Amino acid sequence: MNQKKLPFTKEKILEIIKKCPTPFHIYDEKAIRQNANEFLKAFKVLYGFKQFFAVKATPNPYLLKIMKQESFGVDCSSFAELVMAENVGFKGEEIMFSSNDTPAEDFRKARELGAIINLDDISHIEFLEKTAGIPDLICFRYNPGPARKGNAIIGKPEEAKYGLTREQMLEAYEICKKKGAKRFGMHTMIVSNELHEDYFVETARMMFDLAVEVYNKTGIKVEFINLGGGIGIPQKPEENPASYSTIADGVKKHYKNIIEKNNLQPVKIFTECGRVITGPYGYLVTKAIHIKHIYKDYVGTDACMANFMRPALYGAYHHITVLGKESMPKDYVYDVTGSLCENNDKFAINRKLPEVVPEDILVIHDTGAHGFAMGFNYNGKLRSAELLLRSDGSVLKIRRAETVDDYFATLDFESAINFK
Ligand SMILES: *Cc1c(COP(=O)(O)O)cnc(C)c1O
Repeated sequence: MNQKKLPFTKEKILEIIKKCPTPFHIYDEKAIRQNANEFLKAFKVLYGFKQFFAVKATPNPYLLKIMKQESFGVDCSSFAELVMAENVGFKGEEIMFSSNDTPAEDFRKARELGAIINLDDISHIEFLEKTAGIPDLICFRYNPGPARKGNAIIGKPEEAKYGLTREQMLEAYEICKKKGAKRFGMHTMIVSNELHEDYFVETARMMFDLAVEVYNKTGIKVEFINLGGGIGIPQKPEENPASYSTIADGVKKHYKNIIEKNNLQPVKIFTECGRVITGPYGYLVTKAIHIKHIYKDYVGTDACMANFMRPALYGAYHHITVLGKESMPKDYVYDVTGSLCENNDKFAINRKLPEVVPEDILVIHDTGAHGFAMGFNYNGKLRSAELLLRSDGSVLKIRRAETVDDYFATLDFESAINFK
């Protein structure tokens, strides 16, 4: 049971709003660092363990700096993410490059930085060779197809666009070896936002078996296995977090039984989690601006799905706290909406809340990963600011809100006026 406690008071938020109007995302540095520590403490039972923070979850240099200080690497999936990692000071094999349908310039940038390149398809070997050359160290992403079930967000592996089949994996290592690669890694990612520890333990078992098969058929020993991200977070108050130590200990057991029994050690174990690292420690703070009563009752906020789209995209539950009304009975039922001309622009449907009036401050929980990052500009909406609540209680603006000038920055009104 998680209590959905907030790291700030209503007074603190009102003080912040004087300087930075709603909506904004705010991240809790102390909790992020504490969680990163607990994560590493549990997983250090695994040989050569390294966690690469998935940049796409919360692409902000201040947060990446925290990851670096907590001795995480980064997992990048695009040119811009590689550039951000570079600017924060990540180097070489601290960077994992796991992308799919990859453009040539992205491969070139990854090679320039000496990142670990994780190929998503067998045809990318030739593409990489032509565009950037085959590096010494190369990794492949495995898609187990019908052998595994997947879950709601990623879908069934056999219908997912990612990775190589089992046969292709075997072939890919041999091709790369012939082309001069000397070091090899193996990667997979088959579930997302999954709270059951068994999924990850089972994934490790599957990968260890594959490592044995690769060795038996090709003579290649992989130097690391990256188990991907996908550890979930408890978004509903009645859910429990996944236990890091249950996952780590389960993985270790299979490592002993499979990797060590087959004399394949040492194989380093990597993860590239995003959500579980920052998700629970970010909040979208928004103001109720309209209360509407028609066939249903609506709370209209000054945020919208352009600021946070998970509820609209996945029907995800995100807890909502009405600041200062935490102990009032939840005897009203509302849809909590944004202002987009899209009926699915809702943060909650039929949500029990205390009575909400205009000017009330609403806090939407668990927006610290895949939150701000999924933002967009539809309906001329502007991306919000991002704030960092520092361990000493001070607040740092780590990204300003977009302005109308930003929105127009790619347009040329002058030419449009003169356009005939
Ligand atoms: C999205 C993604 C991650 C991170 O997933 P989380 O659910 O945030 O842990 C890691 N690896 C790859 C390849 C991804 O696409």
